[in-house]
Amino acid sequence: MKIAFYDAKDYDKNSFVRANAEGKYQIVFYETRLTKDTCRLAEGCDAVCVFVNDDVNREVIDELVKMNVRLIALRCAGYNNVDIEYAYGKIHIVRVPAYSPYAVAEHAMALLLTSIRRIHKAYIRTKDFNFSLSGLTGFDLHGKTVGVVGTGKIGRIFIDICRGFGMHVIAYDKFPAKDSGIEYVSLEDLWKRSDIISFHCPLTDENRHMVNADTIRQMKKGVVLINTSRGALIDAEALVDGIKQRQVGAACLDVYEEESNVFFHDYSGHIVDDDVLARLISMPNVIVTSHQAFLTEEALSNIADTTLQNIEDFFKDEYCTNEVCYKCPAIANCNQDHSKKCF
Ligand code: NAD
Repeated sequence: MKIAFYDAKDYDKNSFVRANAEGKYQIVFYETRLTKDTCRLAEGCDAVCVFVNDDVNREVIDELVKMNVRLIALRCAGYNNVDIEYAYGKIHIVRVPAYSPYAVAEHAMALLLTSIRRIHKAYIRTKDFNFSLSGLTGFDLHGKTVGVVGTGKIGRIFIDICRGFGMHVIAYDKFPAKDSGIEYVSLEDLWKRSDIISFHCPLTDENRHMVNADTIRQMKKGVVLINTSRGALIDAEALVDGIKQRQVGAACLDVYEEESNVFFHDYSGHIVDDDVLARLISMPNVIVTSHQAFLTEEALSNIADTTLQNIEDFFKDEYCTNEVCYKCPAIANCNQDHSKKCF
């Protein structure tokens, strides 16, 4: 079994080499992303393994199919970077639906605490032996209302963490969980009532820019936004305006809508062309991490194990439980019981 592994970083190589210790798979690691121009690197491979910023568009799918590549193995949960509707009937797609929801939920809370207790400022000050407390006043989380958008695996863990802090939790989900004890509200209510809003839903055509100038206006003055989900849920330019107008009190961003141009690379010493990102990073109440929420030892090891298992299941058996097709996201329209391949 030969796999072309795109956008490979050192930490990916380490975890996949460990998971493939018996040498069952021939994995060829490429640092480059999967694009129309780099498709040829997968010549002779059975599968390609890709990550969040590999743009698997129609052209890429056509090229892969021409080369008889049969499987796109996503080593992530989200699949908004794959044209899954176009892929249907041509090439199969598998993903890793859960590798460590704790990693992401804990990172969301780490960002929130860092931001509101000004830890990022204090760290730099004390490194410089500046022990002044001026400008470091935060606020208690206890008693505050947090609005959680998306109450799947990560959202639920984040809710538990927030409850541990004595926060009042309200939530919105397109498909609310039954008997969960979660107080579901409309999005309008969530914008209006939340002191803090955290996003844990997938990105779809329907919710792209769900945070925009209009919805920001509906939020509480001083609201803190946390996005560890997908960048394009937030209209970044509207966010900059919202912060400048003091409507948004702070933003904690692990994802950014134009992240594929910069995230995961070292641009220190370079001029970054993205003025919106540069403006956000320059603001004292914005914290940006570069899609790092998943990055724990446990998650990397689970990603490698599940990805290789997905590939083995797909080629050995008739189906893979982690296959995804365009009919799957809205479960109601999914005509598969996942006991066979999607097509
Ligand atoms: P999940 O599938 O378990 O839960 C997603 C929830 O969102 C579900 O309850 C679903 O009903 C709900 N949902 C779907 N469409 C919605 C909509 N339009 N509005 C509101 N809710 C909606 O997924 P998960 O494992 O909890 O992951 C959530 C998201 O986190 C992923 O889609 C991915 O984008 C992101 N993620 C980020 C990282 C990172 O490193 N930053 C890592 C993993 C996942």
